[in-house]
Amino acid sequence: MKFIADFTLGRLARWLRILGQDTIFYNKLDKDMLIRIGKEKGRIILTKDTKLIKRRDIGDHLFITSNRIYDQVKEVVNHYRLGCEDTLFTRCIICNTELIYIERGEIKGMVPDFVFNSKDRFYKCHNCKRIFWEGTHKEKMKRKIEEILSPLSS
Ligand SMILES: [Zn+2]
Repeated sequence: MKFIADFTLGRLARWLRILGQDTIFYNKLDKDMLIRIGKEKGRIILTKDTKLIKRRDIGDHLFITSNRIYDQVKEVVNHYRLGCEDTLFTRCIICNTELIYIERGEIKGMVPDFVFNSKDRFYKCHNCKRIFWEGTHKEKMKRKIEEILSPLSS
């Protein structure tokens, strides 16, 4: 399943990427282009735009009702019954590219020493060249994700 988020939903797009969901997002994109990309690329439009959803040519879309980010994520996860456990942290938060695992030896000098010395697993985005690792902030993030994915919280 692939998504395109409208320009008001940048945070939602980033969170869906954290969950491993293929989600593109542009800061500036008019409605015609949004619909066109959705159709041509087979992407479901995520939008808060009440005018947009009235258009007959909109195609596959989900109207996001909540203004709160975690509720927005839940809306998408619940609506499409997305199983995200296996895809967590597999996608670049910044550019949506799938991350690949890289050997520690390859990244020496590319991350701070304390990170290099304390972490085992590193991932790289080949598009924007960022390197990711299991950081402490991810514990908080993981707890939040567990809440989001928990059926009881819906
Ligand atoms: Zn990237």
